[in-house]
Amino acid sequence: HHGIRQVLRDLGIQDINAAYSTGLQWGGEANEQVSSISSPTDGKLIGKVRMATAHDYEQVVLQAQEAFKSWRLVPAPKRGEIVRQIGNKLRQYKEPLGKLVSYEMGKILQEGLGEVQEMIDICDFAVGLSRQLHGLTMHSERPAHRMYEQYHPLGVVGIISAFNFPVAVWSWNAMLAAVCGDVCIWKPSEKTPLVAVAVQHIIKDVLQENELPEGIFNLVVGDAEIGGLMAADERVPLVSATGSTRMGKKVGAVVGARLGKALLELGGNNAIVLTANADLDIAIRAVLFGAVGTAGQRCTTTRRLIIHDSIYDDVKQRLLAAYPKLPVGHPLQEGNLVGPLIDQDAVRGFTDALGRVQQEGGKLLTGGEVLSGTGYETGTYVQPALVEAENHYHTVQEETFAPILYLIRYSGDVQNAIELQNGVRQGLSSSIFSLNMRETEAFLAATGSDCGIANVNIGTSGAEIGGAFGGEKETGGGRESGSDAWKIYMRRQTNTINYSTQLPLAQGIKFDI
Ligand code: NAD
Repeated sequence: HHGIRQVLRDLGIQDINAAYSTGLQWGGEANEQVSSISSPTDGKLIGKVRMATAHDYEQVVLQAQEAFKSWRLVPAPKRGEIVRQIGNKLRQYKEPLGKLVSYEMGKILQEGLGEVQEMIDICDFAVGLSRQLHGLTMHSERPAHRMYEQYHPLGVVGIISAFNFPVAVWSWNAMLAAVCGDVCIWKPSEKTPLVAVAVQHIIKDVLQENELPEGIFNLVVGDAEIGGLMAADERVPLVSATGSTRMGKKVGAVVGARLGKALLELGGNNAIVLTANADLDIAIRAVLFGAVGTAGQRCTTTRRLIIHDSIYDDVKQRLLAAYPKLPVGHPLQEGNLVGPLIDQDAVRGFTDALGRVQQEGGKLLTGGEVLSGTGYETGTYVQPALVEAENHYHTVQEETFAPILYLIRYSGDVQNAIELQNGVRQGLSSSIFSLNMRETEAFLAATGSDCGIANVNIGTSGAEIGGAFGGEKETGGGRESGSDAWKIYMRRQTNTINYSTQLPLAQGIKFDI
């Protein structure tokens, strides 16, 4: 714990009560609503943050709008240069920031550091992108006419993020938005505001060094209510929200009612298909990382394993051998691979789901205990569970944000497995393990996986930033990060230019007076 004080100091946070957004001291005397943040790893208080009020939110929006006026005029590659500096600052702070992510959220240090690395990677991606915000040129049907399209900055982008990737998801949005000429307002999860404050400190330095207004990157620490204000706010043309499907349905409806743009990244119910032709040595490793990594708290966590009859018992035995040996414990302690769940609510979600699935006929094979004793005093550590189940069970149809892996049997050909994989309301990530090309191509075909992410011979989690990330159906349809995901952060304009002495109309229409 002593070490964490030093980490906070290393991150430039002397007084956590003085946390601020755009240089505005929130609320001042008036706002005494302070939230105490304790670590899921050991229950100790890490720090306190002052929650933003509606008044604070209003100030932040005005500051963001003001910053947008000048930021949109900075040439895109120059904006990229600022993002490059942010990437370098993050490199400098990788160690303490990664530790704080690990301590506040509970993921193991390797994953905390990995999350910061992902921020650095998206900065690099955005720097290159800043010279590639291309539109197309089109041939006009009219003589001596030219047609092209261009992308302009959009304005204020609202970013609502979830607790489980408390900083990376912000950077996926914010770094792209920044090179696109937008300014952003970040409302982090109320469960993990300290890492957001730390990031804001890091960003602030870069902006100051370049004499840019801090209003380019704004932070409001608040709960769903502040998120709701952002969703309803016409001054925020794009709201990018990551979290549960429950949240996404609310935010999507509010943004939709004002015809704003919503980028939704919601829950998953991801499956790995193991066919009779799977290389089980690599498959089992992928399943383990996918199912118990981050203690099952990734949107891409492997929740369902769809196994061919012929290898079912073998797979089950291999998993039964591995599960009891999983090192569960303090995520900052080397050697541990599974940290705690975020809070007691999440633990209840885990035990409730296990209870319900057994009532439906599921069979708990191993795990499922809430751990107690030395090192587990917080009651947030659980033993990952393996359950034999059927795909149609209500419990299996839902995303339980905890380490439960459902083993589901299929027989016959791969199409039966695909049907099971698609037979849920969510559509984020999916994968197939097979060395048979007909099976893998069937999985990737139009009649194959219906997910936003479909992999072959790698697991469901751990996507690279270069691809567009997101999913279909109740996952919300949004795409962020790589490929052409940047386009949603800009407004597209089609331009037609006439350099002739005539005024021909399109479609050959005659309109002579
Ligand atoms: P959550 O839905 O409880 O909260 C997410 C964020 O939404 C928080 O900042 C919260 O304050 C805000 N929020 C909640 N209700 C709101 C409302 N009505 N209006 C405005 N804002 C509101 O989710 P969580 O527990 O923090 O995160 C876990 C969930 O996030 C899982 O379902 C997981 O699959 C999902 N997730 C999805 C992705 C993805 O990219 N698809 C990535 C990470 C997490």
